Amino acid sequence: MLFSQIYLPTLREKPAEAEVISHQLMMRAGMIRKLSSGVYSFLPLGVRSLRKMETIIREEMDRAGAQEVILPALQPAELWQESGRWDKYGKELFRLKDRHDHEYCLGPTHEEVITDLVRHEIRSYRQLPVNLYQIQTKFRDEIRPRFGLMRGREFGMKDGYSFDRDEAGAEDSYRQMFEAYSRIFARCGLKFKSVEADSGTIGGSFSHEFMVLADTGEDAILACSLCAYGANVERAVSHLPVVGNPEEELRPVRKVDTPGRKTVEEVTRFLDIPATRLVKTLIYQTPQGPVGILVRGDQEVNETKVRRVLDADEISLAEEALVEQVTGAPVGFAGAVGLTILLVAEETIRGMKNFVMGANEQDRHFVDLNWERDVPISRWADVREVQAGEGCPRCRSPLSAYRGIEVGHVFKLGDKYSRALKATFLDAQGQEQPLIMGCYGIGVGRTVAAAIEQNHDGDGIIWPLALAPFQVIITPTDVTAGSATFETARSLYDQYRAAGLEVLLDDRDERPGIKFKDADLIGIPLRITVGPKGLQENVVELRPRATKTVQRVPVPQSLEAVQAFITRELGKMS
Ligand SMILES: [Zn+2]
Repeated sequence: MLFSQIYLPTLREKPAEAEVISHQLMMRAGMIRKLSSGVYSFLPLGVRSLRKMETIIREEMDRAGAQEVILPALQPAELWQESGRWDKYGKELFRLKDRHDHEYCLGPTHEEVITDLVRHEIRSYRQLPVNLYQIQTKFRDEIRPRFGLMRGREFGMKDGYSFDRDEAGAEDSYRQMFEAYSRIFARCGLKFKSVEADSGTIGGSFSHEFMVLADTGEDAILACSLCAYGANVERAVSHLPVVGNPEEELRPVRKVDTPGRKTVEEVTRFLDIPATRLVKTLIYQTPQGPVGILVRGDQEVNETKVRRVLDADEISLAEEALVEQVTGAPVGFAGAVGLTILLVAEETIRGMKNFVMGANEQDRHFVDLNWERDVPISRWADVREVQAGEGCPRCRSPLSAYRGIEVGHVFKLGDKYSRALKATFLDAQGQEQPLIMGCYGIGVGRTVAAAIEQNHDGDGIIWPLALAPFQVIITPTDVTAGSATFETARSLYDQYRAAGLEVLLDDRDERPGIKFKDADLIGIPLRITVGPKGLQENVVELRPRATKTVQRVPVPQSLEAVQAFITRELGKMS
């Protein structure tokens, strides 16, 4: 492709509305333009990267035995009412009516449509398993679209769904998709981790997220430095040393004055005890009424875990007035003793003895409290946030913290949708059984954006070769027709293209400085500079975008050198 002919409007300045680096660079590199909030057009350079991503996805999905379909974006309300999600999905669902007043939505996901498709066709266990996927546009009415392609209202997804006859088959499908996803992100040349995740509103019993690691990532991850354990902080667990000494004698409880001491730090310093000797009681407002969550002084409550434990979608820390109403004391002195609400305590602190807790009285705390004797707990559960440095739950090596961008998600759905939509088959005994499902998503544009978040510098994008819109850019410093510089550049261009390389020739009549800047901005992995000085010795310069180290190569050997570079880069990825 000739630079003078490609529709590639670059921007010198960072666009004001772009908050994250991938959004800024995709705008500046002429890959995308915004149409309206959370809705983007893809320009030729952007499309080229998207297509590369899609090709890798298709190859790996097909290799894993999945088959491509295309499902409608426009979906009738009846299907969503059948699954119960028409009401449950809330305001993020784009809803519309046709001229006959029939209700529809623009699909944010396709569990209903795919289940409807197979329930009409699959009759017997002999037709199973089936694994279908599509690469298609999704819609979600985000309350606050932002971060460019990271959180849009219209976005490209690959979504796939497996149907099996039993749990063992479903696990096998899940494992195959997990492995396919690992290959996909490895082939993209991305540093990523697969982590155990919370299933959120899609439901289901088990799920993994694929996270592209980047300091700018929205998600916090904890991963083992030694084994494969990794988890979203929302569900990470750790191996904690046993808390409390089983030999310790229970002391009689006392109530002490703690004038004006409210925070863990204030109370523990005043009483001269470590934070591990204090239990804090946090009152949450939940659909089941106020609930007390108890964790150790040095622990933090993880609200996603609390939501899961209570099976509640909406919970929030209680306002001051509610805390006072429930405990009869000002905020800062809440404690579980004597409360009549549901009390959920962090399971790792079950062994604590003789601990401190608010006394539900202004300026007073209990000392030497003990669980069974003084604080009857309704439920023990994992409700705390794991911290970096704690031991891996599998091998006890320290966990490290990472930031990541979620780009893929695999779920074991079980029979949630097949039961709701009555998608059944006859097993070998002639019994009717629900199909066992899995679902598997990859954000296509989001992965491309995440690749930029992970790979960029002050000058622009540094594409991993597999996702680069072009592999090579040839930059002649002189484009005068007939000049040795331009003619050499042209003949290299023809030669590289004939060899099957994806080449951009910067034939614009611009100063070399401007061309170099643009090449760095759009991030083509290898730049070939052709200039009169080098040509005196019959050499051109090879400059990888990532390392910026210049290598002089004789013109006749340049193709070989470029091919060696590409082979090396692709080798790093597979
Ligand atoms: Zn480990």
